[in-house]
Amino acid sequence: MGAERFVTRFAPSPTGHLHLGHALSAFHVWDTARRYGGKVLLRIEDIDLTRCKPEYEASILEDLNWLDLDWDGEVRRQSDHFAEYEGALESLRSRGLVYRCFKTRREIAAALPAGASPDTAGYTGKPLPPAEEQELIERGRAFAWRLSLTAAQDWLGSRYKALSYTTFSDTGTTEVAADPSPFGDVVLARKDTPTSYHLACCHDDALQGITHVIRGEDIREMTAIHALLQALMDWPQPLYRFHPLIMGPDDKKLSKRSGDRGLREWREHGKTPQDIRAMTGFSA
Ligand code: GLU
Repeated sequence: MGAERFVTRFAPSPTGHLHLGHALSAFHVWDTARRYGGKVLLRIEDIDLTRCKPEYEASILEDLNWLDLDWDGEVRRQSDHFAEYEGALESLRSRGLVYRCFKTRREIAAALPAGASPDTAGYTGKPLPPAEEQELIERGRAFAWRLSLTAAQDWLGSRYKALSYTTFSDTGTTEVAADPSPFGDVVLARKDTPTSYHLACCHDDALQGITHVIRGEDIREMTAIHALLQALMDWPQPLYRFHPLIMGPDDKKLSKRSGDRGLREWREHGKTPQDIRAMTGFSA
């Protein structure tokens, strides 16, 4: 059997109950798949074992059922597959593309321009000399595995500057240049967290034969990191589409953490799935 023509996914992280922002994303995913006669896979992105909880996963499945959004095949739970992500990390490690970074958040912040966030502000570093590194490992010091932009550029040669991804719409596709440099050496794993969102997400998109990714505007820029990982790992690249977000009253995107009302709460207040559609402003 040949590759499927349209396979997309919904990939929530069970760190809380689904809210209107997730519902909007899910409507975009399922509606596009229906229009293209495609499949939707459900992936639970629960790699952060400190924040993800099984009860939230159960609640996500319940909410999707309530919204009448049915997925194809088995649910893939990322925490069941840490060994696979470690395999991908090992491939990068064996080619000298990742290095151990022992810097604390405070040290990283100090190395960045004032006010820049250590999570997003493109820190670049380099591996320590082997003896120094060995000593820190023996002392049990925490570290992160960072993807070295310099090593990636050397590995890819002229392909680095030509990195791109392709967006799709009902009228066609557009190739977009992808520049991962502003993100610096991104963290792909930590001493105690075997993988990061970027690595697990790109690994799974490739493994699950995802042909189309429909995701929020907030991840548009980061898709450049995904283009880089796909090139380094020889993973096939899906087509992408970015949907607008629902903004809260403070003009920030709605998030589970900011305490926005969950779908189950709306349900308890008598709202129907049709009401939820209307409240997200989704129109097909
Ligand atoms: N777990 C991510 C989220 O909920 C998935 C985003 C994506 O790769 O589409 O934002």
